[in-house]
Formats: sequence, structure tokens, C-alpha cells
Amino acid sequence: MPIVVTPAGDQTKDTEVSDSTYRGLVSQVESGQATSVTPREPDADDKMSLWDVVDGTQMRPIPMSTAMVMLRALVSKCSACTWTTAYHGQVAQHVVQVREFADKHKRARLKPVMQGRDAYMQCTGCGELFNVRKGIPDKHLRRMKAEGETHTFAIQEVVMRRYSQIQGQIIELGRMDAAPALKRSVAGANR
Ligand SMILES: [Zn+2]
Ligand SMILES: [Zn+2]
Repeated sequence: MPIVVTPAGDQTKDTEVSDSTYRGLVSQVESGQATSVTPREPDADDKMSLWDVVDGTQMRPIPMSTAMVMLRALVSKCSACTWTTAYHGQVAQHVVQVREFADKHKRARLKPVMQGRDAYMQCTGCGELFNVRKGIPDKHLRRMKAEGETHTFAIQEVVMRRYSQIQGQIIELGRMDAAPALKRSVAGANR
């Protein structure tokens, strides 16, 4: 939870406020209704809980000094999906892989195979084996198709902060082109 400094007579006091209250205070400042919000300078033994933007989880409280370092960490995300990497420039490679994989699955189907006494379904696109007792794996083909479609368009690498003090807050620092849109053949044109 953010801690803000509020006036109390001629002194100040530290008040821990909820994330939504903090956002409210910040927007009051931004709209000119209030003059300032003063986040308190951290004490050595203060702890802070960070929001992990990539995992979408609230972390356990950690020492403030560590949190301050972590708040500077950057991550690169694919603009078309939730794929992230700590290494700048790798979204382009991810897009190539997703597109290749989607391509392999265009005409893929599931064929039954036996391994010993067990019956499996094998994807002809990637060779993955699915145990038929655990359900029909057509979800796999649907997912490959859906991923391929979301990655057809021009894709950017989104550079953002990995952690945030405020739950759900995404701090985007910039975007750069990772891959151009795929040229789509007009459906039925050559058939
Ligand atoms: Zn992606
Ligand atoms: Zn497959």
C-alpha cells in the first residue's frame, strides 16, 4: 500500500492509503483540485509489496531498498499476446516462431497412433502426442490457429516496467516495430 505524507496541524503524519485512494489523490492533483501528493521517503525497515505486471500477481512485501531497484526493471512484451522477455529485441524472434508454428498447423490434423498398448492422437503439425484418455486435443489446433491469427498484424515490442507500486498499473515506456504485418492472400482468389 502506498504511504503518503499528510499535513496534521503544523506537523505531518504518514498515512497508509489504499491503491484506489492513492490513484484518487494523484488524479486530484492532475486535475488541479489538490496541490500535491507527497509519497513518504522510505525508512530502512520499510517494506513494500510490488505488483508483478508480467505474472499479474501481488508480491509479498520486500525491503524498500530492494523494491526500489526492482521498480527500475524493464521487460519487453509482445503487443499481440502476453509473451514477455527480459531481453530487449527478442519479440521479433517470438513473432517469427509463432508465425512458423501457425503455418505448420494450417493443414494439421490429429491422427490416431498406438504406443505400446496406449492410444494417442498425434498432431501432424508439430508431432505432439496427446493421451486420448485425457480428452480430445482439438483445443490444441484451435489455439495454434488463434495464436497465428493474432500475430498476423504488425507487431510491436512494448517496453514497460516489470513491477509497479500500484496493482494493475502498466507503465509503458515505449514501443518499437518488431515485425510487419503478414501479407494475407485474399481468401479464395486462387481457388
Ligand atoms: Zn506474441
Ligand atoms: Zn501441433
